[in-house]
Amino acid sequence: MAIPSFVDRVKLQVSAGNGGNGCTSIRREKFKPLGGPDGGNGGNGGSVILRVEPGLTTLVEFHRGSQRRADNGKQGQGVFRNGANAEDIILLVPAGTVVTDVNTGEQLADLSEENAELVVAQGGRGGLGNAALATPARKAPGFALLGEMGESRTIQLELKAVADVGLVGFPSAGKSSLIAAVSRARPKIADYPFTTLVPHLGVVTRGDVTFTIADVPGLIEGASEGKGLGHDFLRHIERCRAIVHVIDCATYEPGRDPLSDLEVIEKELTAYLGTDDRPRMVALNKVDIPDAAELAELVKPDIASKGWPVFEISTKTGNGLKELTYAMAALVAQQRSLAPPEPGKRIVIRPKQVSADQEFSVEKITGAEGEFSWRIRGTKPERWVQQTDFSNTEAIGYLADRFVRIGIENELLAQGAQAGDEVLIGTGENPVIFDFAPQIESEAELLARRGEDQRLIELRPAAQRRRIKDAEYHAAKAEEAELDG
Ligand code: GDP
Ligand code: MG
Repeated sequence: MAIPSFVDRVKLQVSAGNGGNGCTSIRREKFKPLGGPDGGNGGNGGSVILRVEPGLTTLVEFHRGSQRRADNGKQGQGVFRNGANAEDIILLVPAGTVVTDVNTGEQLADLSEENAELVVAQGGRGGLGNAALATPARKAPGFALLGEMGESRTIQLELKAVADVGLVGFPSAGKSSLIAAVSRARPKIADYPFTTLVPHLGVVTRGDVTFTIADVPGLIEGASEGKGLGHDFLRHIERCRAIVHVIDCATYEPGRDPLSDLEVIEKELTAYLGTDDRPRMVALNKVDIPDAAELAELVKPDIASKGWPVFEISTKTGNGLKELTYAMAALVAQQRSLAPPEPGKRIVIRPKQVSADQEFSVEKITGAEGEFSWRIRGTKPERWVQQTDFSNTEAIGYLADRFVRIGIENELLAQGAQAGDEVLIGTGENPVIFDFAPQIESEAELLARRGEDQRLIELRPAAQRRRIKDAEYHAAKAEEAELDG
């Protein structure tokens, strides 16, 4: 039997836009050849945001495409013109969407609150232009900051709380038929067990209560042990406000009757959910068939004695559906008043703060051959690195000053770092690597070589530095060859 993919669990690649670069520009005026800096700031990249949309009930929209990418911010321009911010991409998801980071396995959010928002990929901030970087001490910066990269990640969306009312029952009891008869939803109905492999949801309005009903398909004996499609289906009932048994009073299958069906399903629910005090109702279905009507009459008092409201219905003729759905509406309204939804709020995924009062961490990492290096983590230093144009010596000097200012150099020295040690900033595929060159020790040297800032040589992205090393290596080789020759 082919099992169609579930519409309630999707993987999605989300990418925010990069920030636009700041602009380096010098004002030109008619009679003043060189005015002040007037480079504008770059615009912010667009973010990708999940927003709970109350009317939505499935994640089916996301099956049409597995990527969402927001635009980049525009670059800053001369004459103080700032680049435009890019639009955010808002993805509407149903309440109850659980968001997981696929790579880390971490659950990012459970969007069960109404109108909650989750920024799943934060747009990169635009870089400052040289006008904004000017200070009394640095009147005409010859550099601007680069825009930051937008975040990107692969997320899984999973819809757990699908409905106010969960319909449970044996295959072919008439769950899908019931949803079809009372709501606008049109689930597939067929004459064989496991008719409904994809959970279906109907929206029903009775009086001033609008609620959703979900068909929880395939709930059969052994489902709680993972038999058949058990767990995947049972997932859907985890957070329903009320459970309604749909019982087939017309089955001729040996060993089945309404009371034992009810018992079997209850046992499965208990095995999966544990003791569960959610309210129950029972719908005895197919009473349009005379034998079924007779059987329903017979078992009704027994079921009612459990304290559960019982309804005799026929999804075929519509008998009893009005009473059943109004009772559902009243029950849902009552349950909602017990647990009202919290007001919406926006959740932004932030890299874990190192600690409340520390903006960075320094960690010594030892490689396989005992070689070691230092790793610096922290939102600020990592952001600053992204903002740095490593082809501009002034920009590199500015970065080095920022590091000194928040105390990275002191911390490295305190932990025993020596000049020449390798220092990595950030994680991932492209940490920036530089050789530690503490200013404190080399101040005299720096003064002696004014104009040629030692830090500029030491602080470069890994790739560039490797190239320099290669060049040095080749030069040394050439020298050797010359000596030999
Ligand atoms: P589900 O597996 O519980 O979703 O059951 P379905 O809604 O797919 O129904 C299974 C079969 O029972 C279908 O052939 C329906 O036409 C039939 N059925 C459902 N409700 C009634 C009813 O009230 N009366 C009769 N006679 N047949 C029904
Ligand atoms: Mg069904």
